[in-house]
Amino acid sequence: MPERLIFEYSSEGKKGYSLPEMDVPVESVEKFIGNRHLRKNLPELPEASEIEVVRHFTHLSQENFSIDSHFYPLGSCTMKYNPKINEDVARFPGFTNIHPLQPEGLSQGSLQMMYELEQCLAEISGLSRISLQPAAGAQGEMTGMLMIRAYHKAMGSPRKKVIIPDSAHGTNPASAVLSGYEVVEVKSDNAGRVDLEDLKRVADAECAAFMLTNPNTLGLFEKNILQISNILKEHGILLYLDGANLNAMLGLCRPGDMGFDVVHFNLHKTFSTPHGGGGPGSGPVGVKEALVPFLPVPVIEKKDECFYLNYDISKSIGKVQGFYGNFGVMVKAYAYIRTLGAEGLKEVSENAILNANYMKKRLEGYFALPYKVGCMHEFVLSGSEQKKAGVSTKDIAKRLLDYGFHPPTVYFPLIVDEALMIEPTETETKEVLDKFCDVMIAIAKESKENPDIVKSAPHTTPVTRLDEAKAAKELDLRWKKATGD
Ligand SMILES: *Cc1c(COP(=O)(O)O)cnc(C)c1O
Repeated sequence: MPERLIFEYSSEGKKGYSLPEMDVPVESVEKFIGNRHLRKNLPELPEASEIEVVRHFTHLSQENFSIDSHFYPLGSCTMKYNPKINEDVARFPGFTNIHPLQPEGLSQGSLQMMYELEQCLAEISGLSRISLQPAAGAQGEMTGMLMIRAYHKAMGSPRKKVIIPDSAHGTNPASAVLSGYEVVEVKSDNAGRVDLEDLKRVADAECAAFMLTNPNTLGLFEKNILQISNILKEHGILLYLDGANLNAMLGLCRPGDMGFDVVHFNLHKTFSTPHGGGGPGSGPVGVKEALVPFLPVPVIEKKDECFYLNYDISKSIGKVQGFYGNFGVMVKAYAYIRTLGAEGLKEVSENAILNANYMKKRLEGYFALPYKVGCMHEFVLSGSEQKKAGVSTKDIAKRLLDYGFHPPTVYFPLIVDEALMIEPTETETKEVLDKFCDVMIAIAKESKENPDIVKSAPHTTPVTRLDEAKAAKELDLRWKKATGD
């Protein structure tokens, strides 16, 4: 049964607190606040006991899925377990009690942490400098695009177009358009990678950049990346990496070595931080030497063992975020990187790849697999076979909730019919992966033998299927006795 409203626990006189007897003279509020500012009626606040309040909020928190309570194989999102030690480190008083306007001399530790995080990210990616300012991947993309625009402008013309594959995440074209570019689509080939012939067809001197995700959104490594980079170089086109899938590359290979000029990181995905509820995130963007003069201000520099904020960047695109970005997320990423070290980060990616390939192998006989090659940290199945029996990917996703699993990403990438995009991450045990595969196989069986139970799922959640648009626009928080409607 869904949790009741806190108001429904209320009855007159119940209290959740007890205060000691007053030991000072009692004064009336009217003495201090003018009568016209005082309310006429008492506020209608609920009156509940402390334990009722605790239970109410604890129950509410349990009505949802979370990484701490459930396996969460949301493809592309990298919903890994976030070590609790990172939260402790982010709460160190030295980090939480500073003010962004405090003088540099009194913020040396925080500046050092940011400086060193930048160095770690530069080393991991093979780039020259990083700006930590963007608050999410999407903002990193736009910051990158604006730097690319400024770069081309300084070379004579900002150019007109940005090339983006048909498998790309929606934020890519959005960032290109917001930065004043027209989007040109490049097709994927039959193997799920950038079609080199199509790329040659669209690449010309009017193109400013190629935005690519690697491994791409099908979980496949773009193994022709050096050829791609050479095709672009002929026309002076810059290569941008959407780094959302960096979880597959840590310590194994570096975007800078593959020819990428600009890269954004999603600290909240690759480098741990609970996300999925809307933030906070952090989307630093890194560049090769040629783009350093265009970085947002300020950048953090070190001189004579002191750290300072440098606003003197010759051709900077300006500031893109209040103060210096989402500082707490940076602390967590820094703690994560320093805890694991170079060897540990490499193991993260190796295990992420191993887990995804293991699950792909177990599931490929039960769901259509459009691209039958080894994957990186995620893979994409298609529910097209189940669709023939009238069971959609949405139905399968809803049915997973009954078995206690958060569904994978669905209907993305757009080039796969009835897509189910599964990313297990490195932090799950073989037992959990097996349990999820067993359930997926059971649902495949149900889809054949008892499709109605899948089509009417979920059956065990506090609410069943909502009209998603209506639920978002006409929020109704009233608790109704279960009447079946
Ligand atoms: C998550 C994601 C983004 C956007 O990143 P945000 O941090 O959510 O803004 C872009 N591209 C891909 C492939 C992603 O998975």
